[in-house]
Amino acid sequence: MRIRVGHLYPDYLNIYADRGNIAVLDRRAALRGHEVEVASVSIGDELRPGEHDLLYIGGGQDREQALVAPDLVAKGARIEAAVADGAAVLAVCGGYQLLGRGYLDRYGVTMPGVGLFGHDTVAGERRMIGDVLLECELEPGEKQTLAGFENHAGRTRLDEDVEPLGRVLAGFGNDGESGYEGCRVGRAVGTYLHGPLLPRNPWLADWLLAQALAHATGGDAPLLEPLPDELEAKAHAVSAQRARDRGGRF
Ligand code: GLN
Repeated sequence: MRIRVGHLYPDYLNIYADRGNIAVLDRRAALRGHEVEVASVSIGDELRPGEHDLLYIGGGQDREQALVAPDLVAKGARIEAAVADGAAVLAVCGGYQLLGRGYLDRYGVTMPGVGLFGHDTVAGERRMIGDVLLECELEPGEKQTLAGFENHAGRTRLDEDVEPLGRVLAGFGNDGESGYEGCRVGRAVGTYLHGPLLPRNPWLADWLLAQALAHATGGDAPLLEPLPDELEAKAHAVSAQRARDRGGRF
C-alpha cells in the first residue's frame, strides 16, 4: 500500500529535528512492504479532502507558530474533516498547541487555533523542560509506555471530556498539574514530546501506521508484522530511566 503523509509547515515547525519522526514512519512502513509518500503542505498550499492518510505537524518557537497560525486556522475545517474521515494525525508541541483552540503567549498575544483538540494553552513564566515518561492505553487493555523530552512554556488544559494521550509517570506533561499529557481524538494524537519521539517509541509509530493504513484501505487497522526493535528498546529504556531519575521539574 501507499501511505500518503501530509507534512504541515516543514519549513517552519521542526525544532529538535521533529521531522525525524517521518523517517521512522517511512522505514517501518518499508520493512512491511508499504510505501510512504510525503508531501509538504505549507503556507498558501491547499489541503485537499481525502488527499492524506496521515497529517504530521512538528514543534516550533512562538515566533514560527505566529507565522503559521493564521494559515493553519484557514485549513482548520479541512483538518477536522480529514480526522472525521479517519485520517491519522501526529501533532508535536507547537503544532499540538495550535490544533487546540489557541495559545496565549508570554506577551499577551493570542494565536488562534484549529479547535480539533478541546484544549486551551497559556504560556507560563517558567519553561517546563526535561525527560518524560507516560503510560498510554490507545487500545483498550493495551498499556504502553511512551518516553520522550519536553520543552515548553505553554500550559495546556484539556476540557473535562477530552481524552489525554497518556498519564504522566515522570515529568510535567500538559500543565505540570493535571497528571495528563497530550490529547487524542479518534486517530489524531497530539503531544509535547519531541526530539524525535518515534525512534524510541516504535509501538506509537506502528499504531500511527496502522491507523493510516486503515484510512488508505477503508478497512480496519491491520496488525503489522513485528520488527526486532532491539536498538529501539534500548533507546526507550535509557530515555525512560532518565525520566524516572530526574523527570521534568523546576
Ligand atoms: N512555543 C511553545 C511553548 O514554548 C512551543 C514550543 C515548542 O514547540 N517546543 O510552549
